[in-house]
Amino acid sequence: MLLSPLAATAQDTSLDSVAKAMGATGIKSIQYTGSGVNFQVGQNYSPDLPWPRFIVKSYTRAVNYDTASLRDELVRLQGEDPPRGGGGQPVRGEQRQIFVVSGDFTWAMTGDAVNPTPVALIDRQLQLWTTPHGVVKAAMANKATVQGRAIAFTVPGKFRVKATADGQNLIERIDAVASHAVLGDVAVEIRYSDYKDFGGVKFPTKIKQTVGGHPSLDLSVSDVQPNATVETAVPDPIRQTPAPYARVTSQMIAEGVWFLSGGSHNSARIEMKDHLILVESPLNEDRAAAVLAEVKNLVANKPIKYMVATHHHFDHSGGLRAVAAEGVTVVTHDVNKAFLEKALAAPATVSPDRLAKSGKKATVEGLRDKRVLTDGIRTVELVHIAGNTHHAGLIMAYLPKEKVLIEADAYTPLPPNAPPPPAANPFSVNLADNLKRLDLAVDQILPLHGRIVPVAELHKAIGHAHQ
Ligand SMILES: [Zn+2]
Repeated sequence: MLLSPLAATAQDTSLDSVAKAMGATGIKSIQYTGSGVNFQVGQNYSPDLPWPRFIVKSYTRAVNYDTASLRDELVRLQGEDPPRGGGGQPVRGEQRQIFVVSGDFTWAMTGDAVNPTPVALIDRQLQLWTTPHGVVKAAMANKATVQGRAIAFTVPGKFRVKATADGQNLIERIDAVASHAVLGDVAVEIRYSDYKDFGGVKFPTKIKQTVGGHPSLDLSVSDVQPNATVETAVPDPIRQTPAPYARVTSQMIAEGVWFLSGGSHNSARIEMKDHLILVESPLNEDRAAAVLAEVKNLVANKPIKYMVATHHHFDHSGGLRAVAAEGVTVVTHDVNKAFLEKALAAPATVSPDRLAKSGKKATVEGLRDKRVLTDGIRTVELVHIAGNTHHAGLIMAYLPKEKVLIEADAYTPLPPNAPPPPAANPFSVNLADNLKRLDLAVDQILPLHGRIVPVAELHKAIGHAHQ
């Protein structure tokens, strides 16, 4: 007491006493259900706003600690009214979502479709190992240090975690820093409160999370089943494609204009007289590396001078750091400029990436209504899609001579022969309005999700028989 007066109010804890208080030692799996709201990280209407909100009617998380698996199943409803921002808005009625991680495989299920989602791997592993009992197990496995009531450990290349126990040795908060494709390092905070006893196992009935300083989850837990049966077999298509982002398919649309697809997000490459323009570097560094390799494979002797970023949404800007590491100038709307400058200058200490290693300082140039890139022969117009509620600073690339439009998220064509949407997508209606207002003659749309379509498909999708 004389040596350490603080000890009187903040008695040191130990991993063993926390594990015992939580009932963690006998837990091999757990399932908990609840409801509340969640927020789609990285999908805000503009970079300075909170993440867009969704109502979570039901939420079931099943975790198997022995197999390092976690399965989230949500039924969600539209939360923003009117719809603003991304994350699959507008949600019509009830939408079921399933997200799974098992070891180093991660995927999402929508209806019968199974899609690999490696970009989400670190976040889902962090979610798994920061569950109330998972964090105790991870602390033990990763030789955590204990200081006062704080338990700290690192999973190298993925995240650093500090878990704090309350006076009853129950985990009350998590402060983590994770590796992030867009942000370098990202702060993730979780608050666990209102613990109750579920068959000898303590579990919080209130869970609140923030990611990057904005709320991401606010959940009330109604039911907890310790040691529930949790099986998450990795589907064959996921197991057979361990590196889905490596696959890049290139297709020439017009002389020197290429569509780079092969996964959930596309890019485009435009050849100018003495340089190249890359439109969009989505997902993460792995995808960026594959796209950059394909760009160099198509044309070896011209440097990429400009990287067009359509908007700041994280799924579309996750490869920007890798492109900036090559000294490429990023061009975007003014709305995104300060955010991207900050993201491209941010440290990546958890997992130093290409940009961190390059030591390069990225250049970001903004535009308001329009900017024209030309080499005297080819012209590329970068134009603001004004008034689009998907994003305040969304830009498209228009090639007037080729009559080609490259756009993201304003219009995503459905697969061929899919039934038409029950109602017109407001973002697509706005795109068509902009094309008309600006009098842009378009033959083909190169969407940054989905397949190339004639512009007539856009008009059909929004219920206009004639353009
Ligand atoms: Zn978006």
